[in-house]
Amino acid sequence: MIPSEGRVLAREGGQFRVAVAGGEVTAILRGKARRDAHDRVVVGDLVTLDEGDRQGIYGISGVLPRRNLLERRTPMGRGNRPVAANLDRVYVVTAAANPAPIPQLIDRLLAIAEANDLPAALVVNKIDLDPAGELVTQYRAAGYEVYPLSVRSGLGVETFFHALRGRESLLTGASGVGKSSLLNRLQPGLALRTAAISEKVGRGKQTTVAAVMVPLESGGWLVDTPGFSEVGLWDIAPRELASCFPEMRSPLERCKFPDCSHRTEPGCAVREEVATGVIHAERYASYLVLLEELLTAPKDWE
Ligand code: GDP
Ligand code: ZN
Repeated sequence: MIPSEGRVLAREGGQFRVAVAGGEVTAILRGKARRDAHDRVVVGDLVTLDEGDRQGIYGISGVLPRRNLLERRTPMGRGNRPVAANLDRVYVVTAAANPAPIPQLIDRLLAIAEANDLPAALVVNKIDLDPAGELVTQYRAAGYEVYPLSVRSGLGVETFFHALRGRESLLTGASGVGKSSLLNRLQPGLALRTAAISEKVGRGKQTTVAAVMVPLESGGWLVDTPGFSEVGLWDIAPRELASCFPEMRSPLERCKFPDCSHRTEPGCAVREEVATGVIHAERYASYLVLLEELLTAPKDWE
């Protein structure tokens, strides 16, 4: 039977690896899909397929509407480069300890996800080293879904794996937090597989953030983008930043000035909640750093 629909796993030169019912096929762009330059096919895209040619290569005839699209800015403002589509969830992975968590980095990654309309959650690994789990409490209070777990002891691991089932997920985080250990526990050899594929794609002519998608035996897909943190915060206006922090969304409605930057303005409800401890001081500190970055970032027209 001819597969008529598939999910793009990777781009390899001018060809795509596409997952279809019962396996994987190779496909290229044909007809209208090929002419629509803006409609570039990315990892995670759901595509319609024409029948294969004699070499068994299928044609991509169209791209189904995307639920979301992760894009990366190209250097010197020459437009955006799409990275991956149709993500269900971004998991920011940190360790509870060893290496010590970097709140700045965690908050940056969470905000990038929010800014791209991707539901974000936090995975706190190595909970065996910090049973008190202060980080877990803190980020739950901020409004995030948090998965405390330990690859070493196995605690919480099944709950997290269950959340991956049937979904398209992206894992990101600093090195040393246990991402490879976690992937290998989910599926032996999985960490090696994602690393090998990204290397292969990355060695191409364009030194871009290449993404690949790996199907999970337990159901679902993992998107691997080596440069998620480089996707950046570029596409949001400084004024929108606070709304990328879930715990600030409600107080920011009560600030005296509608264009409050939550730095020094009088009557700022966000700062009030920082002062009373409702908003964690570290989260607010991250907000200020990211805001400064956005305010000083070169604009497209500069
Ligand atoms: P990655 O760089 O994020 O892929 O991290 P790795 O998977 O290579 O893990 C880094 C180190 O953390 C390794 O020495 C692992 O054995 C260790 N590690 C991973 N998970 C846990 C855990 O749950 N608890 C503890 N104590 N160590 C862990
Ligand atoms: Zn304010």
